[in-house]
Amino acid sequence: MTDFETAFGRPSDGVWSAPGRVNLIGEHTDYNDGFVLPLALDRRTWVAAARTTEPGWTTVRSDREDQPVRFAASTVAPGQVAGWACYVAGVVWAFREAGLPVADTDLFIHGDVPVGAGLSSSASLECAVAVALAGLAEIPVEKTPFARIARRAENEFVGAPTGGMDQMAAMHGAPDRLVFLDTRTEAVELIPFDLATHDLALLVLDTRAPHQLVDGQYGERRHDCAEAAALLDVPSLRDATLDAVGALDDRRLRARARHVVTENARVLEVVDRLRGGRDPREIGPLLTASHESMRDDFAITVPHVDVAQETALAAGAHGARMTGGGFGGCVIALVEVADVDAVTRAVEAAYADRGWEPPVAFTAVASAGAGR
Ligand code: ADP
Ligand code: MG
Repeated sequence: MTDFETAFGRPSDGVWSAPGRVNLIGEHTDYNDGFVLPLALDRRTWVAAARTTEPGWTTVRSDREDQPVRFAASTVAPGQVAGWACYVAGVVWAFREAGLPVADTDLFIHGDVPVGAGLSSSASLECAVAVALAGLAEIPVEKTPFARIARRAENEFVGAPTGGMDQMAAMHGAPDRLVFLDTRTEAVELIPFDLATHDLALLVLDTRAPHQLVDGQYGERRHDCAEAAALLDVPSLRDATLDAVGALDDRRLRARARHVVTENARVLEVVDRLRGGRDPREIGPLLTASHESMRDDFAITVPHVDVAQETALAAGAHGARMTGGGFGGCVIALVEVADVDAVTRAVEAAYADRGWEPPVAFTAVASAGAGR
């Protein structure tokens, strides 16, 4: 018996899923109209769904939660649902707002994307619900419009002011591909990223660093970037040159802007190298440079991530960097498959030396986007 059958007493009409994501490079570039390069993870959120037998009610259950949450698909609006189910209700609402058909449904959610680790379990949940609603309504999935719907749910229903990268990665992700996204135009290009054939792995180290002051700091960085762009008289830092940035008087703004400008250039360089079929090892130094820029110019790393990054490099990684918004979260390292265990053990030992809880380590394989 499936979880859905146990919960609702009948089989579902289908199971849909969407992946979490990890950003290979391009950090804090999204709200500066810049470039990002995430991959869809082989960790997903699944939604088993069926049309309701109780008209007027959508019922959502999750194996992470004791209680179901109920709302009416035809009237649900921001403010009416709180907690974990607002990600689901938000997508139903945004679907309706987009003029797409929504019927009441029974939904059972199960996921193995680590929650709150910066791997975007939230976007994977939203996108899985979006493709489930489309499947039940028998309408075609449109990747970018659906990503917009999911982002709108997160921004306006959940109330989290995030960029659009996570939902675009969850919708557009593909096996052995990176999702190269221009956040200004929403143009997407899939970039080859087949590490296994090169005997390489992307090691993810969830540092589980205690998050502190994250919200305030994120807002401050956004504000700094907007201020720097205004001083430089450009629409966004996407349009700034390194020379212009170097002439900014304010030391902090100069450093913040330099991170964004150099980070955009690094994304384009990584894309160039991989698109040209070069050995993925050649992107290692760009990953490491990205970390140094986040540490020294953007000031968003913390000891847990710096130690993991430095230790991974010292243990043989070709490149390593923090991924995600900062102040904790995950470090990624490009390593030989044969070195995955040694690098993991080295970081564990460095953490043990400092009396820290060990990181949670796994390897990420670029996987399929949302679908049935
Ligand atoms: P992240 O996206 O980095 O994992 P967020 O705070 O943005 O972290 O989103 C995590 C939230 O998404 C959880 O607190 C929960 O409300 C919701 N969520 C994610 N996966 C599930 C799930 N399988 N079941 C219920 N809620 C989930
Ligand atoms: Mg999230």
